[in-house]
This record gives sequence, C-alpha cells and structure tokens, in this order.
Amino acid sequence: MRNSIILVISVFVFFALQAQPSPQSKKITKKFFPDSESLLPVTPALKKKRGYTNYKELISFINDLKESHPSVVSIKYIGESQKGYKIPVIQIKTISDSEKIKIWMQAGLHGNEPAGTEGLLYYMHSILNNNSYADLLEGVDLLILPMANIDGYLKDNRYAANGLDLNRDQTKLMAPETRLIKKVFCEFNAHVGLDFHEYRPYRKDFAQLSDFGITSAYDTMFLYSGNLNVPENIRNYTNDVFVQNARKLMDFKNFRHREYTSTGKYAGEIHFTQGSSNARSSATNYALNNMISTLFEVRGVGLGKTSFKRRIEITLELALSYTKTAVENTTAIKNEIQKAILDSKPVVVTSKRKVYKDTIKAIDLDTESLIDLDVTIRDALQSSPVLERLKPNAYIIEASQIAILNKLKNLGIEMIPLIEDKLFTVEAYRISSYNEASKVYEKMKLQKVKTEVTTIQKEFPVGTLLISMQQQRSNLLTEVLEPEAPNSFVSFGVLKTKLDDTLPIYRVINK
Ligand SMILES: [Zn+2]
Repeated sequence: MRNSIILVISVFVFFALQAQPSPQSKKITKKFFPDSESLLPVTPALKKKRGYTNYKELISFINDLKESHPSVVSIKYIGESQKGYKIPVIQIKTISDSEKIKIWMQAGLHGNEPAGTEGLLYYMHSILNNNSYADLLEGVDLLILPMANIDGYLKDNRYAANGLDLNRDQTKLMAPETRLIKKVFCEFNAHVGLDFHEYRPYRKDFAQLSDFGITSAYDTMFLYSGNLNVPENIRNYTNDVFVQNARKLMDFKNFRHREYTSTGKYAGEIHFTQGSSNARSSATNYALNNMISTLFEVRGVGLGKTSFKRRIEITLELALSYTKTAVENTTAIKNEIQKAILDSKPVVVTSKRKVYKDTIKAIDLDTESLIDLDVTIRDALQSSPVLERLKPNAYIIEASQIAILNKLKNLGIEMIPLIEDKLFTVEAYRISSYNEASKVYEKMKLQKVKTEVTTIQKEFPVGTLLISMQQQRSNLLTEVLEPEAPNSFVSFGVLKTKLDDTLPIYRVINK
C-alpha cells in the first residue's frame, strides 16, 4: 500500500515537472508579446513543433553551414562536457585580407535559456546567406559558441551536470566547461564579447509587488559592467555606442528594453539591483579583459515555447546590431582598447552601489496593463569605491601555489618565473580579520577577510612567478588576487587562509 502511494506521488511529481505550464495568460501574451512572423524555419527548433534543438540537430546544422560555405566556416571541438558531449565552436571569417574585428558570441551557458542558442544559429545562417549582410561578413572574424552548457541544455536545466552555475564560475574555474571555454576565449582574444541569455519574468519577488503581483514588461535587458576596474573609456564606449545603437533598433522594432535588473530582499524590502560589477559573471569578467562586453537577457525563462519566435528574433537583432556597430567602428574600438590597456588608475578592491528611488515599467497581473512601479534601485552602473589600493607594478606568487597559478594561466595571465634568487621590496598581506561563511555557495565555502598591508624586503627563490601589470588582462588579475575583492581566490576559498596568516601573494610597488 505504502509503496503504491509513493509510486503515485512520484508519477505525479514527474509529470508536474515535465509539463511546466507557462504562468502567462493568453491575454498578456497577445497584448504585449505577440509572436514574430518574420522568421523563416531555418533552424532545427523552428522546423519542429515540440522541443528545442537537440545535440544531433546542432551538429548537423553547423556541418551544413560548413558544407555550403567551406572557405568561410570552420568548426573546432574544444573538449567534452561532463557527460561526454563534444563542445563545438564555429569560426566565421572570409579569406579576404580586409581589416576585421574579432567578435566572440556565446549562448546556452544556462541550459534553460533556449532562445539564445536558437538565435545564434539563426544569426550564423543569416550572416552567411543573406546578401544584405555581405559587408558585415567581410568585416568580422567571429567565434561562436552556440551551446555552452550542453548537459544542462539537453535537460532544460540551468546548471552544469555537477550542479555548478557556469556564469558564477568565471574566476574560480571549478567546472570543466568553464576551463575549456576560458582557454579558447583567451586564445581568440576578441575585441567584443557577447553572451546571450534569457531571464525569468515571473519571479517569486514579483508576486509580492503591486496588489496582486506583476510580471516583467521588458523584452530584453542589457547587462554591461559597472565594475570600476574596467577602464572608464571602455564602459562609456560600450554604453554610448554599442548599447545605444541596440536601444534605437529595439525602439524601432517595438521591443521594450532597459538596463538589466534583478531583485533581492534588503531589510525585508524588495529592491531592484541594476547592472553588475562581479568578476564571477561573464559581462564584467569579459570587460575586465579589456574588451567591449555585454550580456543580453531576453524575456523567456519558464515560458516554454510561448513567444519563442519573438525571443529568437530579438536575439538575432541584438547580435546583428552589435556586429554592425563593431564593423562600422573597427578602428575606433581597437584604439579604445589600446587606451584601456595603458590605464593606470588605482585598483578598486571593493565598491558599493548607488541606492535611489525610481520607477520601472511592469505589467500588473490584476489589470493586465502596463504600470509604472515605484521601486528602490541598487545600481552597480553608479558604483563608488570603498577600498582602493595603488596599482602595483607586478604581483609575485610563490611557485608552490600550483592551483592558483594554473587558474591564472587558464585566465590568460602571463607570468614570468625568476631565473635567479632575487630581492624585492614588496607589500605583504597579513590576514587581520577572518570569517568563513556557514553556507556553501557554488560548492565553495566563502571566506571574508580583511588584510593589513606592510612593506618588507624579501628574497624570492628562482622559479617564483613575477606577474607584470603591464598586460592586457591586468584588471582581471587584481580582481582575483586582491584578497578582499568579492570574487578573488581568497573570497572563493581557492586559497585557504586563516587569521594572522601571511598570504603567498605579494605586491611590487616601485618607488
Ligand atoms: Zn542566464
């Protein structure tokens, strides 16, 4: 008897999980998010009624692209997912010697956000076959990772097979997929890096807003970095040129858009967080590599295939808009990046968001109409420094720190071993305050520390690693090495420490 009850319950739970009915009323879909009619059935999921592009269809789709454009398309497998699927990246580059701008595009880092992947498949098909994009095709060197988290994707699940969120893993590199992607990302060394996602428009917090709850009104949200270690000229160029052009296009096409927001509870009250400054996620991580970077959120998670063509069209249009802006400003962008590499402002170890009142658009679930919602915004795009340090000339790391050194190498950081014992004047960190989080975050026990920095003379043995700050990814370097930085190796527990320890990391300040 008991067994059969358990069986009935499990069967019920199984179907409840499979069905996942969209929470959205037909009226809201029709009124605010009518499906697109301009797309042709050229990608696998657009050719079939049920489900999304599966692995076999993905591979046969990209093989077809290569077969019909053999001199432009090449496919490389960068390694295997945890479940053993080979992960493809597709390079699109004509053989002409015209000047090209390098653009990295990825989608499907979260496995339950299918419009990103489908949109990039559609984009590849368009740029290769549509003659009106011939100039764009000539001007780009594209590297596209259409299904970053294959294991998650095939199960319509956000996470990688080991439960990690691949977009919180960009500094600690705990998932095999992250390490493989990071390696090819660094080798390609793009000028522009784009990451396509979808977001959940029916959040738990939204049920408590307005009289009977709200849903998000925005077709798409732009997430670009507010991190103060990203040189200001790169942040401005991203917003003023790239996002601005895409905003105009979204307006023209009647898609509602805004800066990325999410929600969180602060002293019991729901606040809207805006933008991002965290190096653990792609938008900021890529910008810290000194490139133009944006993460796009399209309204879709939890909606099944509702408005699926609309979501694909938005992804496609955003990818095309960024391509066009990149090609039209190739020289200017390369100049901005050079300027950014020479930037020598102090290092911002921790920062705080500006908090203010504003209104955002929302769809009221009771009246099914568009409203202006009064909200508190916590804005990473208007961050200010809390803890700053002089920018060092270099960091020094003891050769015994193999885990850290491997991660730095994987992040594209150049390191030079000392060829003889050498005396340096350095700043050493001593842990002056230590807290280990009781909760595990992303399979790691977070450490919150404060350090005291003292200047000492120290002889370092041959083989010790010297890491110059005169390199392209130096801004990322400070985010992982400065102990108090929120996504550093110390914060994530990659480098275990305790009160009164001296860290095996040193700062070289020339005076
Ligand atoms: Zn996502």
